[in-house]
Amino acid sequence: RGAPALQDIETPALGHNSPPLSETATESRRRRTFAIIAHPDAGKTTLTEQLLLLGGAIQIAGAVRAKGERRRTRSDWMKIEQDRGISVATSVMTFEYAGQVFNLLDTPGHEDFSEDTYRTLSAVDAAVMVIDAAKGIEAQTRKLFEVCRLRDIPIVTFINKMDREAREPLELLDEIEKTLALDVTPATWPIGSGRQFGGVYDMAHSTLRLLGEGGERDEPVSGLDDPRIDTLLGAEPAETLRESAEIASVYPEFEMASFREGHLTPIYFGSALRGFGVKHLLDGLARFAPPPSARRADARVVEPEEEKLSGFVFKIQANTDLQHRDRVAFLRICSGKLRKGARLKQVRTGKSIPVNAPLFFFAKERQVAEEAWPGDVVGIANHGVLRIGDTLTDGEELNFRGVPSFAPEILRRVRLDDPMLAKKLRKALDQLADEGVVQVFRPLDGSQPVVGVVGQLQLDVLSSRMVAEYGVNITFEPTSWSTMRWVAPKEEGPTDRAALDRFLRTAPSQMAEDHDNEPVAFFSSDWGRKRSEDEWPMLRFLSLREQH
Ligand code: GDP
Repeated sequence: RGAPALQDIETPALGHNSPPLSETATESRRRRTFAIIAHPDAGKTTLTEQLLLLGGAIQIAGAVRAKGERRRTRSDWMKIEQDRGISVATSVMTFEYAGQVFNLLDTPGHEDFSEDTYRTLSAVDAAVMVIDAAKGIEAQTRKLFEVCRLRDIPIVTFINKMDREAREPLELLDEIEKTLALDVTPATWPIGSGRQFGGVYDMAHSTLRLLGEGGERDEPVSGLDDPRIDTLLGAEPAETLRESAEIASVYPEFEMASFREGHLTPIYFGSALRGFGVKHLLDGLARFAPPPSARRADARVVEPEEEKLSGFVFKIQANTDLQHRDRVAFLRICSGKLRKGARLKQVRTGKSIPVNAPLFFFAKERQVAEEAWPGDVVGIANHGVLRIGDTLTDGEELNFRGVPSFAPEILRRVRLDDPMLAKKLRKALDQLADEGVVQVFRPLDGSQPVVGVVGQLQLDVLSSRMVAEYGVNITFEPTSWSTMRWVAPKEEGPTDRAALDRFLRTAPSQMAEDHDNEPVAFFSSDWGRKRSEDEWPMLRFLSLREQH
């Protein structure tokens, strides 16, 4: 067999007698909400730009780079923190392509802010994994992939930088398959690499897409045996293509169900810098990426096509206006239609939240839209009322789960320069924890709070915002802890509950409550953690918690 069949996937045919779709259903079905996961430098920003160009959302390459974040020095990050309006603007990029509305959610490039990325991944329905063709799978790719796997997010892979010296395509596919335990199916196959990179062979459509002076050019052929390939590429490159593409046919065929469950990824080869192969990728996304699906909430499963609105906050960004302490909460809509001027229920508190001026991130001229649909993300300005993980509804009592917190490995004691400011510190830490800047833990022995972070930059941001916004000077003291776990009874019922109480009393200085008053334990070593796990079989020690 020559090429795996990546047939066009049709939307389910509607019988002649089926009732017309509701507006919510129609709009929901054309949403594609996704993020790009990549190790820094793999080409995420360059690819984002190319996607926006194809979607007509920007006119020239360079627009995103100029506005968005780049690799920055530490002092640059501090400046960004003071100039946060920029990141609000590039947090969600919406564009239309092939009749669909794509919402591309941006994630921070720096790994110290990877918690932000994990949370953003809870708000997407698909991801594009960008891999540098010379480097293969890198540390950050792997971590982000694991988060996608946790949530069964379907992944489309783009092997980038084929215009540079690259590893053998088969070797790259093998690596993806083995290190990520993910089935792969090549959608396109590269013709050479580096200076010899000539384009790709589109496996599904038996077309050569060639890289030329003026961009891409399609040459239909009848299959890999077509002698036209020799004429177009030359005899030797044609033979090389045939040989390697032949071996590639050992990979499984594309199968929609397997892709949607996150078990199989279609692979595209290209060069974002040269704008090559990006259209293939976007066509692939348009065909395969799922529309918003049903989401599990604590009370029940919510279908996107329901008329009542529901959604959850996955990100909070402090606004540019420091004077007013405005925060923009990013709401991912899960069902129903959001209208400007709606009042929504914040389920955690029962409060009614007016949504008078939602920020809609609509592509072209950033026009203010009047409504948003499942899969869309809107920004809601508020004064610290909304927090990460909050569910908003039209009135129903339900909570979406899935915005994750991971056990941090850097744990620092907060030291306050002026003890008179203890109350202020508490409030400031609460607000910044609401925003997900850091995780905050309050030790059960009443000692100073502990903050948990993934990277040093988070601590820098915390202390600089403490001064700028609250007038509180803090420093951080090292602790002997290298990890923490959320602790919960294994079974509901009084026995295991009592065990938890006993456990927490064994060493109150090593125990704390998190931001939601959930109990946690700190450990100085893996060995100590394992010992506690063995000694307390009626308890669960969790490295991941889903916020509510
Ligand atoms: P990010 O850190 O993942 O956002 O990566 P960038 O998009 O900023 O790209 C990192 C560097 O790789 C930049 O210098 C880009 O110009 C370069 N780059 C990105 N894509 C390609 C490509 O397809 N080919 C080549 N040769 N360079 C690329």
